[in-house]
Amino acid sequence: MIRIPSCGVVGLDREIVESVYRILWPKPLKLFTAGPVSCFPEVLEVMRFQMLSHRSDEYRALHRDTVQRLADFLEARRSTVLLIPASGTGFMEASIRNAVSPRGKVLVTIIGAFGKRYREVVEDNGRIPIVLEKPPGEPVLPEELDDALRKNPDVEAVTITYNETSTGVLNPLPELARVVKEHDKLLFVDAVSAMGAADIRVDEWGIDLVFASSQKAFGVPPGLAMAAVSEEVFERAKRIPERGWYFDLLRIRKYLESQWSTPSTPPIPQIAGLNAVLRIIEKMGGKYKWLEMYARRAERIRRGVIDLGLELFAREGYYSPTITVVKAPPGIRGVEVYEAMRRRGFEIAKGYGPVKEYTFRIGHMGYITDEDIDELFRNLAEVIEELKKKT
Ligand code: PMP
Repeated sequence: MIRIPSCGVVGLDREIVESVYRILWPKPLKLFTAGPVSCFPEVLEVMRFQMLSHRSDEYRALHRDTVQRLADFLEARRSTVLLIPASGTGFMEASIRNAVSPRGKVLVTIIGAFGKRYREVVEDNGRIPIVLEKPPGEPVLPEELDDALRKNPDVEAVTITYNETSTGVLNPLPELARVVKEHDKLLFVDAVSAMGAADIRVDEWGIDLVFASSQKAFGVPPGLAMAAVSEEVFERAKRIPERGWYFDLLRIRKYLESQWSTPSTPPIPQIAGLNAVLRIIEKMGGKYKWLEMYARRAERIRRGVIDLGLELFAREGYYSPTITVVKAPPGIRGVEVYEAMRRRGFEIAKGYGPVKEYTFRIGHMGYITDEDIDELFRNLAEVIEELKKKT
């Protein structure tokens, strides 16, 4: 290999590449994680392109095309789609800083660990959370939300975790959105583990800000946060002082509108990766065909769990399309299942939050084949038998 200091590197030092690879991948693993998830091969391939300036015409063309494709996917023609260098939590913070008055109240619905995070974000930004909390495994029901809004008419916004990754519950978002709009409140949706696998119709459902992270159902590496933001949010932002710099939605929109770019440097490879996935979706027959693929995959995984005689954690009828939370059999801790599966080359997800001890999770997101799923269950059956014998 030849190294020329002023011109970069000519040739490829395999030893260096392999040294790094050995740290990350000492052994092969099949991923059934909660995210980051296994990426589509096309995504990994386009992410290897050489970098270019995020102020170049070529980058602007990529950003513009990706935003337009995502807006189509989200049915968000009246909203503005933003792509920023952050993870989804960045937009969680942005929703509060930009659209809720200082000391203003927010109705935070909690069905697990990520609803709790939203409450913390509200508090840590000096706003006041009013909490509607359900026990783990349960969704929020429309009548409960309606009741909470009747009792708290002075809240400015409602937050909903669309898919609660810690419990495997999918909230009934279209029905909940209808209630929020009847009460004329802003609606913020954490769709980090939903976007790309559960239907989202931004315009029709009247969502004011919905956000996600790249490393979930779109199967792209982490580092990119995506959101669709309503005009109402930008109007409110104009009246809110001290929105901060990094997550100032008006500044982010200005860069989008004036130059199809971002105020600070975007994760160009991830945006190329997302663009590739949106093209895969198109080639597959469009959004609804793609969502069907996710629904079938989730069904196959739930069937596999039930066939092993194990119990699902989420309330029936509200199952997540992206993650299945399973009750560990009596006497076995969730983490034991996780560790035994890892020794066999499968990275599932440990239980998370309050139900950590007695559950384990099987993620369905990203690049997973039916054969991978069948192999997972052959191994899981043996692991459960082995662990049962030990108790
Ligand atoms: N909300 C939900 C529902 C999540 O699943 C996660 C990540 N597991 C987050 C928020 C946080 O996302 P990020 O780490 O990408 O900011």
